[in-house]
Amino acid sequence: MTSPQRIIVVGGGIIGITTALEFQRRGYEVSLLDPKQPGRETSYGNTGVLSDGSVVISNNPGLRKRLPKLILKKSNALNYSLGFVLKRLPWVAKFLSYCTDQHLDHSSRALRALQALSLKLHMDLISDAKAEHLLRKTGWLKVFRSDASYQSYGMELKVFGWTGVGHTIYSEDELKQLEPALNPIFRHGVLLHDACSVSSPAALCDAYLKLFTDAGGKVIQGAAKRFQRAENWEIQLRDTKSLQADAVVLAAGPWSAEIAKSLGYKIPMAWERGYHWHLEPGTGPALTRAVHDVDAGYVMTPQQQGVRVTSGVELADRDAPLDDRQVEQSIRSARQATSLGNKVEDAPWMGRRPTLVDSLPMIGAAPRHPGLWFNFGHQHNGLSTSAASAQLLADLFEDKSPAIDVEAFQPNRFRL
Ligand SMILES: Cc1cc2nc3c(=O)[nH]c(=O)nc-3n(C[C@H](O)[C@H](O)[C@H](O)COP(=O)(O)OP(=O)(O)OC[C@H]3O[C@@H](n4cnc5c(N)ncnc54)[C@H](O)[C@@H]3O)c2cc1C
Repeated sequence: MTSPQRIIVVGGGIIGITTALEFQRRGYEVSLLDPKQPGRETSYGNTGVLSDGSVVISNNPGLRKRLPKLILKKSNALNYSLGFVLKRLPWVAKFLSYCTDQHLDHSSRALRALQALSLKLHMDLISDAKAEHLLRKTGWLKVFRSDASYQSYGMELKVFGWTGVGHTIYSEDELKQLEPALNPIFRHGVLLHDACSVSSPAALCDAYLKLFTDAGGKVIQGAAKRFQRAENWEIQLRDTKSLQADAVVLAAGPWSAEIAKSLGYKIPMAWERGYHWHLEPGTGPALTRAVHDVDAGYVMTPQQQGVRVTSGVELADRDAPLDDRQVEQSIRSARQATSLGNKVEDAPWMGRRPTLVDSLPMIGAAPRHPGLWFNFGHQHNGLSTSAASAQLLADLFEDKSPAIDVEAFQPNRFRL
């Protein structure tokens, strides 16, 4: 009997954890490499939505119209560092070049298939991990403060129609019944009723990781510096050590481009940073689901630590100092929307959404290196899409036909 192939998954966020678990379940000998405790970077502090309908990417045709307001920093949905934008101008220009009807059609269908499959797979994983206590099947609510802003949402509603995203439209009065925690400042609501959410994305990472380690999976603490291929794959770590494997999956989220560069790959990635801060619940009824206040550009969601208010996008260097202005504004707006108490922490948390120029993840074989696989670039919906991304990658690895079309996610769509 031949021994199973040894696979090292580099990066232990939700993408790396689900990937490691998937390969392990298919009989491989899998190790997960991360310099930190897995699930403690971007996958720690997100909004916790398991969405089946986050299908309209940020660089959609409507962005061009909103651009002047965003550039003048008149919307809380975006903050940016001018230095970063100037330094990354080719990336920004390329990102904007995807604001076309054609790419909206292509990306929304691809993301819808990925998210619908992933939601099903998460339900199975959550059950296997006995993590049902984290799960809320209460949907994902978008609310609008004015008729005008609801009308501007028409493009999203159209896309929900052609991609089959289940949604229900709520009037002002109906919203009060649906989510009594909301103050009566919203004129319209759209509920993605099949979406779910979790009360702690970090606890979900821990529960999935436990499935992996209980079945013999190894977690190695260390930071990959570069990869080298001789007879086997060698991963050189930042200290002097190195690791050997038959195959490597690069799943280090926002750090993936830097690591892939050691093999000459130019990955068109930037970081859409985002913040959260927890607040004690106020005196009114408790919030029962994730709520996106579209006009004010933030989301609030009940979490184990309190009500988590998450901010929109900040374009800045990956490791630039924190700038809490956007999340402070989000909190001021959230206080208009619902009853909230004191801040739980002294400072906000910050995470980095890893975004490729076309806002689609990269799932598949590295173009020039047999035995090296990519699974990163999941931008705003990596929690939602992780389970399916892992399954698709393992299918491609085994030369099996994936459950959905993977063409849109293939690394070779770019000249890397
Ligand atoms: C404010 C905010 C809200 C969000 N809300 C949602 C949401 O509601 N739903 C949703 O689906 N998505 C959401 N997202 C997006 C989601 O969080 C990300 O897409 C997802 O967490 C990316 O996971 P990842 O595993 O690729 O990256 P990460 O979680 O960042 O994991 C990467 C891992 O790589 C490790 N690493 C770094 N360097 C090395 C190295 N040299 N060697 C080995 N390992 C290394 C890191 O330590 C880290 O553990 C949100 C993001 C933000 C910021």
